[in-house]
Amino acid sequence: MTSERLFQIFLWIVTSIITAIIEGKIKGKIRRKKEIRKKEFEQDKNKERLLKNYTIQNQRIFFWIMLGPFLLFGTLFLYIALIEPDAFTEFCSLAFTMFFLFGVLNAGVWKVTVEGENIMFRNSFGIIKRYRFDDITYVDKKRSGALKVYSGNKKLFTFDENIDYFYFDMQISLKGILRKNEIYPIPKHLKDVLDPVGEESSEKYVNGIVRCSCACECFHIKVYADIAEGFPQIGEYKGGYALVVAAVCTDCGKEYPIFDISKHGWNGFVCHDGTSVPDHKLKSWYCPKCGKDIYKMKISIISRGRQDFIEATGINDGETEFCEDDWVEAFEWITIGLICSRCGHSDKRWIDNETM
Ligand SMILES: [Zn+2]
Ligand SMILES: [Zn+2]
Repeated sequence: MTSERLFQIFLWIVTSIITAIIEGKIKGKIRRKKEIRKKEFEQDKNKERLLKNYTIQNQRIFFWIMLGPFLLFGTLFLYIALIEPDAFTEFCSLAFTMFFLFGVLNAGVWKVTVEGENIMFRNSFGIIKRYRFDDITYVDKKRSGALKVYSGNKKLFTFDENIDYFYFDMQISLKGILRKNEIYPIPKHLKDVLDPVGEESSEKYVNGIVRCSCACECFHIKVYADIAEGFPQIGEYKGGYALVVAAVCTDCGKEYPIFDISKHGWNGFVCHDGTSVPDHKLKSWYCPKCGKDIYKMKISIISRGRQDFIEATGINDGETEFCEDDWVEAFEWITIGLICSRCGHSDKRWIDNETM
């Protein structure tokens, strides 16, 4: 490899790193700005006016940040193509040029404008689409901070994580538009810890892994149950059914209720079957292979869905202690799988319980 080529590669890497650092710094600023915006909004007395007309787009500064490298690599590409043809360098500089060109277009052209109920979306290539808030069936907020907006199964547009879409997010909440997790039958006590995986989750089935709010995925497990053939089964406490599982984060020590047959699922939640068990009666669960007590946990839940719950409990017919949003609590089946983090021993159906 010639020293000239090495220098070129060095230049690409340095430019990309510098751009990424600048971008990262600005993203941090935007995050802080979002917080300020939230506080201002909470104090503002004229919230409706703020949410009536607004435009969401990338910060102008991104346009300039992307424009520099775009011009640099574009010039390099032209120079090489016209004066010193060399396939490898041409290809690389073209790839970088296209990458930054997309950045320029994304920062300069992409935008979402809201006027009352109407949403105008212009993509990075200038193509305009018009929607109404009624068209939105649900939104999906990603862990990165990006927000994807859907109509049925069709994705309408995505707010990247570096875009301040606070007003839009606020309208989604005010209009009662569902967030993706709310479509899944995840009971409230698991909402923040059960992270759906795979594509097959729906209103009637969810499968996910348990993750602490500190991002740790390893837990000590505590359980109250009868043990039969090495697995926890429904036991008895003070003359009633009892089966309780809790998880304690191995990093931060936070404890989460995972399943209590007297509270969760149709029989517990709707029929009030079973007895609750005081926390000190729960016992640590040790791996049957290696004797250690640190696990990753998977949960899948089967539900009959929102409408079935509404009909079965007669919410629309008159007095009942339940409301529509309670449907997630009245699931039909729960399966809890444990994977030992030391030896990898896996019990896919450690608990496999029909709750209806
Ligand atoms: Zn934790
Ligand atoms: Zn083990």
